[in-house]
Amino acid sequence: MNIPLLDLKRQYQRIKEELEPELLACLAGGVYIKGPRVAEFEREVAGYVGAGHAVSTGNGTDALVIALKAFGVKAGDEVITTPFSFFATAEAVAVCGAKPVFADIDEKTFNIDPAKIEEKITDKTKAILPVDIFGQPADIDAVTTVARKHGLAVIEDACQAMGSEYNGRKTGSGADAVCFSFFPTKNLGCFGDGGMITTNDEKIAVKCRALREHGSGKNGRDARAVDEGTYRFEAAETENAQYNPYKYYNYIVGGNSRLDEIQAAILLVKLRHLEEWNAARAKNAAFYKKELARCGVVLPFEAPGARHIWNQFALRCQNKSGLIAHLKEKGISAGVFYPVPLHLQKAFDSLGFREGDCPVAEKICSQTVCLPVFPELTGEELSFIVSAVKEYAGV
Ligand SMILES: *Cc1c(COP(=O)(O)O)cnc(C)c1O
Repeated sequence: MNIPLLDLKRQYQRIKEELEPELLACLAGGVYIKGPRVAEFEREVAGYVGAGHAVSTGNGTDALVIALKAFGVKAGDEVITTPFSFFATAEAVAVCGAKPVFADIDEKTFNIDPAKIEEKITDKTKAILPVDIFGQPADIDAVTTVARKHGLAVIEDACQAMGSEYNGRKTGSGADAVCFSFFPTKNLGCFGDGGMITTNDEKIAVKCRALREHGSGKNGRDARAVDEGTYRFEAAETENAQYNPYKYYNYIVGGNSRLDEIQAAILLVKLRHLEEWNAARAKNAAFYKKELARCGVVLPFEAPGARHIWNQFALRCQNKSGLIAHLKEKGISAGVFYPVPLHLQKAFDSLGFREGDCPVAEKICSQTVCLPVFPELTGEELSFIVSAVKEYAGV
């Protein structure tokens, strides 16, 4: 049996009847950038996560960079983050010219350990950047308590966690700004790149809108007013107006990172299925947890108060490469997320981190194996994967 880690073709087949008319209407509509579907999708996401504002971007990495810049993160600053994530988390900090500083993770949740943040704070620290790794929210309340005490912003990397919840609240409204990715392999993915920032802070939303589009137009003018302390809210011309008299007037240096209209059309359809897909992932995860107890592997821990949406099902195994090789022999693709903790990535060698700086993350990197957990897995496939792990464990 051949089982991929994720099979997007199956998802496409299931929703193609809904999707294709929307795609064709978008193509025929002739508006491919800043069209009505982008505005509608931003409203839908803001409503879904319970945030006041949603600002779409070209991808999740840009969402992080833009959010950090909106909070004024720049050269010479430090941002405290987790060493156990996809590279983009810390890369975004470096792209702003700031230094990523790593606080080690909690051994059970694999998320940043709030108790290890305070010792990393210096007079250069500007923000804390927790990640909801594999779809389980970080302990945002504890992180926020530390941040408030020291006057720091909390920017949450929820690129793997759309639809997750923490203490009864959807991820997307708990931190000062929350960043999402719609890369195809995420729980809510488009047919290319896409991203989003959600926030309850109107001034931050204004700055994010300006930063994603050359600091131009009314957004740019407003963002500059925010910087100068003169910003007043005006119920404005709509964000996506095709005619924009301020278009070629630039007020701050931004860049270009927009969500395409066609991706918004796809995401509007897919968002309607997200709860059902996340529930199917949770069902698959529950099946693994039941069947793989007593297999000599450490099963993923679900923190009290967290609704995990299982972007990945990551178990821990003493012999990571042995288990991966065994699964491969059976035709099962396993994920290796993440082989190298961020502080030991070559790209950061000039920052002077060493092995031993984040011992928990280093250990977890050497042990995690991710099993396929996508919603369309069949019962037969799930049982086959369980038997393969059991066979490896000799039980
Ligand atoms: C996917 C991901 C990103 C980056 O998102 P892109 O859309 O690929 O740029 C950032 N952080 C985490 C944790 C991710 O999983």
